Amino acid sequence: MVSKVGKSSVSPLNFWLKFISPLFDLIYPKQCAICSIELSQQDELICYFCENDLPKTHFENYSEPTPLDQLFWGRVKIDKTFAPYYFEKEGPIQKLLHQLKYGHKPKLGIKLGELIVKNAQPKLFQGIDAIFPVPIHYRKEFQRGYNQSRALSKGISLHTGIPIDERFLIKQKHTKSQTKRNKWLRWENVQETITAVNGLNHNYSHIVIVDDVITTGATLESLISVIQKNYPELRISVISFALTK
Ligand SMILES: [Zn+2]
Repeated sequence: MVSKVGKSSVSPLNFWLKFISPLFDLIYPKQCAICSIELSQQDELICYFCENDLPKTHFENYSEPTPLDQLFWGRVKIDKTFAPYYFEKEGPIQKLLHQLKYGHKPKLGIKLGELIVKNAQPKLFQGIDAIFPVPIHYRKEFQRGYNQSRALSKGISLHTGIPIDERFLIKQKHTKSQTKRNKWLRWENVQETITAVNGLNHNYSHIVIVDDVITTGATLESLISVIQKNYPELRISVISFALTK
């Protein structure tokens, strides 16, 4: 049955949802992603106290190179780096990132992206043409429903206006079994598999690569060195939600 409801009137479904939603919240109250306490109206996904207790790096206040800058010294040339939090085993950041990866919570990614912007110096984003989420293997993306770095990127994009560029395709190494079908993949374990990156806009002068957590920096190092081989003039910055302590 098709209802002939005018534009200004409320559809019967929306009408009932208006009543049902608060009931649903009453039965399943929104909980903090870290301490599971019931969230107040003002809090979004993480409660005020847990957000305040997150282990900050304070890299935004450093005048000297940060440990994250130093991680890439002698490996690849990076313009700027930033990570607002430290990742520790069994810590709150691990809990958040685990939910982001496996809990089907793309909204949490947007919230964490917002936290990156909230902690960063505004000048970090000046002059950046595009945000590139670290690609993950398409099979993982299918299992998880989304790429966690893209979810973070969305939060950053929303608050900075910098567009996300997804034409970030990585060419898998040419092997004998693949001579006829030359595959282009989004690939997480890039170290041995990538030989070229295509699809970058030649007008870009400065891009930022966004990751969820940096431990050894090996994945980013491989990714960046391949990009720089193809686009030597391009300035590349790196932003991660967390750095392993
Ligand atoms: Zn909490």
